[in-house]
Amino acid sequence: MDLDRKLALDAFKTDSKSHILIRHELCRSRCTRRYCLYVCPAGLYRYDEQRDEIQVEYAGCLECGTCRVACDKGAIEWSYPRGAYGVQYRYG
Ligand code: SF4
Ligand code: SF4
Repeated sequence: MDLDRKLALDAFKTDSKSHILIRHELCRSRCTRRYCLYVCPAGLYRYDEQRDEIQVEYAGCLECGTCRVACDKGAIEWSYPRGAYGVQYRYG
């Protein structure tokens, strides 16, 4: 079974409140490379041109923490989802 099919087996219980917060003022004033757009294994980050801000689809988060480490401007405030929310892994 390939990775995409394995990931499709995971279940998500989505909280109404995001566990990932982005400090947009830091993105705008300090960041040129936008590593967050490339490192997320689930491809959850995107740049919204109209709003001039980075957005993240937190509901699909795999809770790997990569984005927090990759953001070299400290613009991502990341915590695990509240109890009972988030990803449930199945078959690895
Ligand atoms: S890497 Fe960090 S600072 Fe740069 S755009 Fe992404 S969240 Fe913002
Ligand atoms: S923790 Fe991992 S899966 Fe979740 S948004 Fe960050 S990089 Fe993507």
